[in-house]
Amino acid sequence: MPMYEYRCQECGRKYEQLRRFADADRDLQCPECASERVERLLSAFAAHGCGGGGRFT
Ligand SMILES: [Zn+2]
Repeated sequence: MPMYEYRCQECGRKYEQLRRFADADRDLQCPECASERVERLLSAFAAHGCGGGGRFT
């Protein structure tokens, strides 16, 4: 199950949540103010590129 990142448009709170892909944009609610005006951010998982290491010079 992928991790998604959300941000509340009411209070600006950012939070992460594990959700199924099909549910990623459903029933969003801010844990801080209970607002449903929450937007999904581009997920940050796989942010670390596997840069080419292991090269000994
Ligand atoms: Zn909020």
